[in-house]
Amino acid sequence: MTMLPSGHRIRLGRIFGIPLEITASWVLLSMLAVWSFWARYATVFHHRTDGIAIVMAVVATVLLTGSILVHELAHGLVGRWRGLRVSAITLYFFGGATTASDPATPVDELLFTASGPVVNLVLVLVFWGITGLADHGHAVAIAQVTGEEAWLNLLLGLFNLVPAAPLDGGHVLESVVWRVTKDRARAVNVAARAGAGVGGALIGVGVLELLFVRGGLFDGLWLGLIGYVLLEGARSAGARAWVETALRGQQARVLLTDHAQPVTKDTSVRWLVYAEFLRHHVDAVPVEDDGRTVGIVLAGDVMGPGATADSERTAGDVMHPLGQLPTEPATADAIEVLRLLADHPVVVLVDETGRLVGAVSQRQVGLVLDRLRALGASPAPFTR
Ligand SMILES: [Zn+2]
Repeated sequence: MTMLPSGHRIRLGRIFGIPLEITASWVLLSMLAVWSFWARYATVFHHRTDGIAIVMAVVATVLLTGSILVHELAHGLVGRWRGLRVSAITLYFFGGATTASDPATPVDELLFTASGPVVNLVLVLVFWGITGLADHGHAVAIAQVTGEEAWLNLLLGLFNLVPAAPLDGGHVLESVVWRVTKDRARAVNVAARAGAGVGGALIGVGVLELLFVRGGLFDGLWLGLIGYVLLEGARSAGARAWVETALRGQQARVLLTDHAQPVTKDTSVRWLVYAEFLRHHVDAVPVEDDGRTVGIVLAGDVMGPGATADSERTAGDVMHPLGQLPTEPATADAIEVLRLLADHPVVVLVDETGRLVGAVSQRQVGLVLDRLRALGASPAPFTR
């Protein structure tokens, strides 16, 4: 559910208000699915014309995609019901993903993650019901398609319930450990280790099949690939657990590294680029007016693609007014600031009188975590 691949995504529109996206790999998978369904039907119904086999293959692919979409929609709608911010549903090569904010409680996590596979199991009953009716009415082609959809949904539901992160079942396991131990980072770690174990085992079985089973090339490669994706997902879940452990109990101020000198509103953008951003490797420069911080200029606004360092504009023209950026006390929980950074380029830290202490960017957090890792200041990172 959270193994989102990088790469270009195409937005199709909204479904129940949730943005729906597809990746290029999804188009590839759909064509592959039509082809393999067609190859099957052409063999099973050899007495039929190829035209009917193709229609059946397209219908089967649409129903399979629909099943995956309904699975993700269940996550999205239940997530929204439990107060999560659901930002997108993405369909890609291995199925789908629903992007949402972190659940606040173990119960929210359980309901959010279990909803997807449970919907697949409900669809099994629906498709079996239709198959029974079609069989009764001697509609062989319909019974063939819906019968296979029932099996595919059973496979989808059960595979996703395997208790290994990043599969849904891994998050179900996480919610249970979280509930029992009251320790979220530990729960994430347990699910990640299970994911690494299952991923490694799948790769092992895949290799064995490839080497020792006659004709096992395709299945072996396929198993190995699924295992590899699981292993990678588990690794990133484990990294998240490490970060949460490393920063647990720390104040947000530990995330500050570079200290940028404030500039005035009439400072030119050109000067900002060459004297501040390039020279001092800072990501955010405070802008002052009458000795008071009024805004922040971010490196990304004046450098990089789409930004031009034209000399006409000033810091006052390009700054983000202080009130528009997320602001936290410097004594706030560091992990909270990390969560805010998932949605914002920078988080502003202030002292108890509301004066600026600094601005934390994602790159800075990366630097701090690298230092912590290098110094061994925290529990050993999760590696497998
Ligand atoms: Zn799911």
